[in-house]
Amino acid sequence: NAVSAGVAPILTKLKHDCATPLPLLRHVADAMAADMRAGLAVDGGSDLKMILSYVDTLPTGNERGLFYALDLGGTNFRVLRVQLGGKEERVIATEFDQVSIPQELMFGTSEELFDFIASGLAKFAEKEGGKFHLPPGRKREIGFTFSFPVRQTSIDSGILIKWTKGFAVSGTAGRDVVACLNEAMDRQGLDMRVSALVNDTVGTLAGARYWDDDVMVAVILGTGTNACYVERMDAIPKLQGHVSPSGTTIVNTEWGAFSNGLPLTVFDKDMDAASINPGEQIFEKTISGMYLGEIVRRVLLKMAAEGALFGESVPEKLSTPFVLRTPDLSAMQQDNSDDLNVVGSILYNIAGVESNLSARKIVLEVCDTIVMRGGRLAGAGIVGILQKMEEDSTGLIFGKRTVVAMDGGLYEHYPQYKRYLKDAVKEVLGLEKSKNVVIEHTKDGSGIGASLLAASNSKYE
Ligand code: ADP
Repeated sequence: NAVSAGVAPILTKLKHDCATPLPLLRHVADAMAADMRAGLAVDGGSDLKMILSYVDTLPTGNERGLFYALDLGGTNFRVLRVQLGGKEERVIATEFDQVSIPQELMFGTSEELFDFIASGLAKFAEKEGGKFHLPPGRKREIGFTFSFPVRQTSIDSGILIKWTKGFAVSGTAGRDVVACLNEAMDRQGLDMRVSALVNDTVGTLAGARYWDDDVMVAVILGTGTNACYVERMDAIPKLQGHVSPSGTTIVNTEWGAFSNGLPLTVFDKDMDAASINPGEQIFEKTISGMYLGEIVRRVLLKMAAEGALFGESVPEKLSTPFVLRTPDLSAMQQDNSDDLNVVGSILYNIAGVESNLSARKIVLEVCDTIVMRGGRLAGAGIVGILQKMEEDSTGLIFGKRTVVAMDGGLYEHYPQYKRYLKDAVKEVLGLEKSKNVVIEHTKDGSGIGASLLAASNSKYE
């Protein structure tokens, strides 16, 4: 019933190549801090773009009134309204709606896509009533979360650099996406205005800050990954002309592009070479949900081919890229049964193989190796951001309570990943410093966050 001897050396080498001992994590944290600095110095100065968000005013809790949010970041767009009642009443009411974007619009023209969005927004706005009230003489204000690469030009404008995530809409690249939306709202006869254009990470930070003044960093770990944080204006040399009354602004790191000092294997390199963006987003490819399952699949395929992990023949389905998904890894790792029957049935359903107990144990070891590396490197990245902030203002981070707001399906639904991440943060920071650092999950902060940013950047205050 044992697994062939050919598997053991592959597993040993994998563990060796994926190891993340403390010195390596320290090095990654230091490199993250250094890359942040280089990206703040000049545009193009580092792997990290360090994009200025123009969000200089974060929610305080005092916001009042009716605000809308619009979220476009994938195959759905979401609309939301919130009635805010200040410090006492907080969120009096929220309503939201989700509309899936028809496939053909992802390949159509800019006008078609934005008309569809504006008409969805118009339908939603029509149903406003009950606890939602707009003071007379005001327009409805929108926080627009737009999760594609944008060169922000002010809090309420930004140029689309390129579509990603399967969108190939003609006529938007190089244009201000807020203007595109405004024109479509005009065509619909919809009289609303965008007060804040934000990245989803920035929305998450704003949403979390509304409830907790100590939130300084937000991290998303879902299909992809990104992080943003509160930066001092005088720590941004590349900044030209922009003045923030608060003296601080949120910087979107685009940390998925980080690549310094990561422990990569042949499986990572092959996956990267076969990807649509070879050489790019290396940190994202090592730690985020889109890729963890695929890395494991590549390891198992090699073990099947060279070590007969699943018997004499290589299961055909295991050769299909991305058949094994990160939620499958998580489901397998939650299997506590003696015979690992959940692992067995997932392998059967996905790869069409009958596995014995020792093969299932090997599969779990591979999952754990890849997930541990991902979680620990994400943790080291977080420490890098905290370290950079502390270096510039001693005591700002480690001298008081500091909250890192976390969101995304990977962090939320993969308990082992979350554990490895948190443990790595503690390990790198040490007992004393880590006492003050709280890593906290904020559920669905980014939608409310965008509407809060519409409120804190309202044209009427
Ligand atoms: P997105 O990042 O696509 O905007 P989410 O934050 O909801 O959306 O993240 C979805 C991603 O989270 C999935 O692509 C998957 O990688 C990961 N994920 C979802 N469910 C699970 C799960 N049960 N276990 C592990 N990872 C999961």
